[in-house]
Amino acid sequence: MKKHPVLSVVVALIFLGLPFAASFGKGTDVSADAALKALKEGNERYTQAKPIHPNVGKDRRTATTVDGQAPFASILSCSDSRVPLEIIFDQGIGDLFVVRVAGNQANSIETASLEFGTAVLGTPLILVLGHTHCGAVVGAIQTAEAKGEAPALLKSIIPAVAQAKKNEPSASGEALVKAATEANVWQAIADLLQSSPTISGRVKAGKLQIQGAMYDIETGKVTWMGPHPKQDEVTSSK
Ligand SMILES: [Zn+2]
Repeated sequence: MKKHPVLSVVVALIFLGLPFAASFGKGTDVSADAALKALKEGNERYTQAKPIHPNVGKDRRTATTVDGQAPFASILSCSDSRVPLEIIFDQGIGDLFVVRVAGNQANSIETASLEFGTAVLGTPLILVLGHTHCGAVVGAIQTAEAKGEAPALLKSIIPAVAQAKKNEPSASGEALVKAATEANVWQAIADLLQSSPTISGRVKAGKLQIQGAMYDIETGKVTWMGPHPKQDEVTSSK
């Protein structure tokens, strides 16, 4: 079991973070299902070229400064410049708590940030979003095939490549990239559940849902993958 002192960081922030109280807000009262629906509807508007660009004006800036933030969803996605979250989900200021890192990996800092999003800001949903043509996944496949030492940036993706090859032994080229990109979404969700008692505890308590999704950088469409297919097994195996 991977352990890191994230819970204590969250607790410390709650108790010592009073000067930042205006940043925390009152938390959202949106349910995980409603949060997911809002993201789905936002992506529909985006792909149909009918965005409404909500919550982007001065009123929203003022409200979120005075009252603090209450984002309705946390999202872990890739740093890729072709995956701009507020645009592809047609959301605005204060709507999304976002963590972006190459290959949407859930290492300790990303996990700690997502713990903050759910345990302190109260987001009921964590979406792990992979995307097509992900350079980090392609790099991890090439590293795995060369059997060299994986650079630190790609280490968490290597097990997803191995899983994709196990699931689809004959896959190569684009098919392997697709399988590995999907496996990498499940890998990040499993890493979150296994390394963070805060996150797994909130999932078990019904306060948090973690779902996967895949963004097509050409069509702009998000494909919804749902929760980890072995979520209970993954959560209880830590
Ligand atoms: Zn990427």
